[in-house]
Amino acid sequence: MKITHVESFRVPVPAVDPPFRWREGLAGSSPAGEGGILRIGTDAGVEGVAFFSRPGAAVMLDDLVERVFRPELIGQDPLRREWIWHRVWELDRIHELPLPTLGLIDTALWDLAGRLHGLPTWQVLGGYRTEIPAYASTSTFGSIPEFLDVADQSLELGYRGIKLHAWGDAVRDAELIGALREHVGDDVPLMYDGSAGFDLPDAIYVGRALSDANYLWYEEPMREFSITAYGRLARAVDVPLLVAETSDGAHMNSADFIMQGAATFGVRASTTLRGGITGAMRTAHLADSYRLRAEVHGSDIPNQHLCMAISNTTYYESLVTSRRVVRERCVDADGLVHAPTGPGIALPSGLDYPQELHPYVHQSL
Ligand SMILES: [Mg+2]
Repeated sequence: MKITHVESFRVPVPAVDPPFRWREGLAGSSPAGEGGILRIGTDAGVEGVAFFSRPGAAVMLDDLVERVFRPELIGQDPLRREWIWHRVWELDRIHELPLPTLGLIDTALWDLAGRLHGLPTWQVLGGYRTEIPAYASTSTFGSIPEFLDVADQSLELGYRGIKLHAWGDAVRDAELIGALREHVGDDVPLMYDGSAGFDLPDAIYVGRALSDANYLWYEEPMREFSITAYGRLARAVDVPLLVAETSDGAHMNSADFIMQGAATFGVRASTTLRGGITGAMRTAHLADSYRLRAEVHGSDIPNQHLCMAISNTTYYESLVTSRRVVRERCVDADGLVHAPTGPGIALPSGLDYPQELHPYVHQSL
């Protein structure tokens, strides 16, 4: 089997309604824009797709397909994912590809493999589980009472835990951290994500508040450039750290976080920032060998497949971004996400796709 066509498509993505915020200094929800879809096809008729949804995705993908991806892929065997995954690192050495594009080819090839076998990709990967609990991962709300109300609604809707994305102000965030623990009691798993808003002294201050309130994990308080700083943080606070979400280099980078003693809870695994399914699985196996977790990052279909295939992950991350909380469609009333059933990975439903992509859109929900 040979790859015969490599195409990009554009699909309008409406603005999130209502719009939401992240911490001070970061852009909130994106305005209406265009997503990009990569489609890889073969002389055997089987195809695979991957969805790219970051800001500017459509323009970036059109350009990359023309200049880089198509010339590399035409004539290749689409089942040699390992070879092609290594080729992408070679391409990256010259082009310095945007991090979320490093896994697009790999994700499309895993979709293709699932379609070829008539199985969901998580099963082709060697399925570990068929359901997983979801936690509510909040956007940034205006006040402590608003956060507490969102937490109440989320738990009422079945979510099994709450992860805060707060203001990025160490003193205010520490206050919220304590208030939420006091409000929900000792039994609800709570996590905190700093979205890289702090330096080391503020990260230590917030980390001590998290230890005092018995949070399950502390995620990305600083940009993940200095692994030394993360090692120092890990030695200064008791709350376990979940690290290496946005850093380049997939499992090779995660390995250094582990060796610095920084991954005291574990590392992040995602298709979008860890080099597709292949990079995420490598990262998960690396963490497993040190008896650490590889917590799946992000609310999308490829990451649902990872959740079912990775043994050492705990939760599905489900975004909760409105004051009246709406449970994500893939999460049931018991707070569980069930394994996808269709072949391959599939594209998210609810968007206005070109006709020729309709067979690839998620149908089972
Ligand atoms: Mg995060």
